[in-house]
Amino acid sequence: MASAYEIIDHEFDVVVVGAGGAGLRATLGMAEQGFNTACITKVFPTRSHTVAAQGGIAASLSNMGPDNWQWHMYDTVKGSDWLGDNDAMEYLARQAPAAIYELEHYGVPFSRTEEGNIYQRPFGGHMTEFGDGPPVQRTCAAADRTGHAILHTLYGQSLRNNAQFFIEYFALDLIMGDDGACEGVIAWKLDDGTMHRFRAKSTVLATGGYGRSFFSATSAHTCTGDGNGMVARAGLPLQDMEFVQFHPTGIYGAGVLITEGARGEGGYLTNSEGERFMERYAPNAKDLASRDVVSRCMTLEIREGRGVGPKKDHIFLHLDHLDPKVLHQRLPGITESAKIFAGVDLTREPIPVLPTVHYNMGGIPANYHGEVLNPTDAEPDRIVPGLMAVGEAACASVHGANRLGSNSLTDLVVFGRAAALRAGEVIDRSAPIPAINKAQDDKIMARFDRLRNANGSKPTAELRDAMQHTMQEDAAVFRTGETLQSGVARMSEIYGRLPDVKVTDRSLIWNTDLVETLELENLMANAMVTVVSAEARHESRGAHAREDFPDRDDVAWRKHSLSWIDDAGKVRLGYRPVHVDPLTPHSDGGIDLKKIAPKVRVY
Ligand SMILES: Cc1cc2nc3c(=O)[nH]c(=O)nc-3n(C[C@H](O)[C@H](O)[C@H](O)COP(=O)(O)OP(=O)(O)OC[C@H]3O[C@@H](n4cnc5c(N)ncnc54)[C@H](O)[C@@H]3O)c2cc1C
Repeated sequence: MASAYEIIDHEFDVVVVGAGGAGLRATLGMAEQGFNTACITKVFPTRSHTVAAQGGIAASLSNMGPDNWQWHMYDTVKGSDWLGDNDAMEYLARQAPAAIYELEHYGVPFSRTEEGNIYQRPFGGHMTEFGDGPPVQRTCAAADRTGHAILHTLYGQSLRNNAQFFIEYFALDLIMGDDGACEGVIAWKLDDGTMHRFRAKSTVLATGGYGRSFFSATSAHTCTGDGNGMVARAGLPLQDMEFVQFHPTGIYGAGVLITEGARGEGGYLTNSEGERFMERYAPNAKDLASRDVVSRCMTLEIREGRGVGPKKDHIFLHLDHLDPKVLHQRLPGITESAKIFAGVDLTREPIPVLPTVHYNMGGIPANYHGEVLNPTDAEPDRIVPGLMAVGEAACASVHGANRLGSNSLTDLVVFGRAAALRAGEVIDRSAPIPAINKAQDDKIMARFDRLRNANGSKPTAELRDAMQHTMQEDAAVFRTGETLQSGVARMSEIYGRLPDVKVTDRSLIWNTDLVETLELENLMANAMVTVVSAEARHESRGAHAREDFPDRDDVAWRKHSLSWIDDAGKVRLGYRPVHVDPLTPHSDGGIDLKKIAPKVRVY
C-alpha cells in the first residue's frame, strides 16, 4: 500500500535534481544567490556523465587567432540546421567567454599556450568568417579530460557555498500542484530505503540525456532520461525528440568515445581504399565537418562497400601520423581508451570506429532563462511556474537539429548560471514553501509500489534489450518511412509489455533491480516519443536524415516538435514556432539577420 511508506520531509528554496555540469552550475549559482539549495543525485556528483566529456568547451576567446561571438553564433545556428532558437543561441555565444573565465577563476585547470593563455583546439563545425574561412580554434580544453576538471571544480565550489547534497537519492516524480505549478520532488534514498519529500519554490531538472534508449551509446549507463520521464508523467510535453546525435567516432564494438578533439588535433578518417573520403564530401571542413554530416558520410562509405575490417562494417581513424608528444600531452585519455577498448597502440595503428549514439538535442522545452515551457497554440512560450530545466535534459533550444561538438559543456555552464540568475529575479523570498500535497504523494508512491511489487513475466533486462535494439535498428543515422513505421509498431508492442514487467528484488536497500526498472520506464517514454516524432517529420534536418524526404523543408517544418505521452504509451504530437528573432537587434550591436537566414548547409 502506498500509505505504508513513511516520508521524511525537507524544505528548501530550490531543489536541483542532478549533479552533472548543469546541475552543479545551477546549484552553485542558486547558493550564490543566497537560496537555501538542495542538490539530489542518483550517483556521486563527480561520477555524473559530464565527467566523461573529453574534448572541451567552446567560447570565442580568440586565444589562438581571430574569433568573435557572431562567428560562434553563426556556426551554432548553421549546426542546428536552423532549428535552434536564435535568442537562446545568441545568449550562448555571447555569454560563453565570461562563463569560461568564471570557470578559470573557480579553479578549472585548463591546458595552456606558451603565453599562459587557455589552450583552444579546432572542433567540428566551428569555423571563421561566418563559415567561409578555415576552422577556428575555439574549444577550450583541459587535455582530453575537460568534463572531469569542470565537474570536480564545480562540486568543490558548491560545497564551499553551503549547498546541501543528497547523494545516491533517486528522484521518482515531480510534485505538481493543482494550479499546474511544480512544488518539489519525491526521492528514494538508495542506501537505507527511506523516502524523502523535497518541497521547494523552484525545482531544477538537470538529469542529463537518454542515450541508453539505444543499444550502442557513448553515454554512461546512468543516462536514462529520468527528468524527461518525470516531465512526461506530469502531463507536460517533450520537444524535438527525433533529433538524436550519432558521434562519428565511437570505438567499434565497445561504443566508447574517441573525442572529436582527435580530429581537431589532426586525426583523419579513411575507408578500405585508404582514401581520406571526407575531402570528397566536405572540401572545406573535411574531417571537421559537423557530426551529423561526418556520420552520414561514414555510413555511406560502409554501405557502398568501402568499410574496413573483415566485415567491411567500420571506418579507420588515424592518429599514427601525429607526434607522440602531442598525443601524450593533448590526448592522453583516448590513448588509453584505444589501448583498452580496441587493443590499438594509436602511435602506430588506426582506431576502428563507427557512428555511435552520443547526445540528445531534444528534451524538456525551456527558454533561455531555464524556465520550463508548457506551450499551447495561443501561448507557445507559456511557463510552468516553479520548474526549470538545464543541460542535456533541456531543449532551450541551442542545438536545434544537431549540436556542435564542445557546445554542450558551454550550454551546461551558461544555462546553469542563467537559471540561477532568473531564480534570483522571480522567486519570492518571503513566500512560504508549498504545503504538503497528499494526493500527489499518494500517486507517486502508488506507482513506486506497483513497480516494486511488479510480478509479471518479463524481466527488466529483456524489455530494455528489446527497446535498445529496436531504436538502434529503426531510428538510425539514416531513416525511412518504412523503418520508422516499423520502429513505432515495435516500440508500441514493447511498451505494451511494461505492465508485465518482473522485479525479483522487493527490498528497499540497494535494490538495483528496482532502480533499473524505474529507469526503464523513463527510457521507454523517451524512446516512444523519439520514434513517433521522427516518423511524423517528413524532411531531413540535422541529425534527422530521411531517405524518403532528403531535403530540408523550411516552409512546412522549421518548427519544434512537441510530444506528450499517456500511461498507455500513446503519443500525441504538436508543434511550436522557432524563435527567429535574436536577443539584440542588429542596430544595437546584434548579429545581422541576413547572416543567419536559412540557406543550404554545406561544409
Ligand atoms: C563520452 C562523452 C564525451 C563528451 N564530450 C563532450 C565534450 O568534450 N564537450 C562537450 O561540450 N560535450 C561533450 N559531451 C556531451 C556532454 O558531456 C553532456 O551533454 C553533458 O555532460 C550532460 O551534462 P548534464 O549536467 O546535463 O547531465 P549529466 O552529466 O549526465 O548528469 C546527470 C545528473 O543527473 C542525475 N540524475 C539523473 N537521474 C536522476 C534521478 N532519477 N534522481 C536523481 N538524480 C538523477 C545524475 O546522478 C547526474 O548527477 C560528451 C558526452 C559523452 C557521453
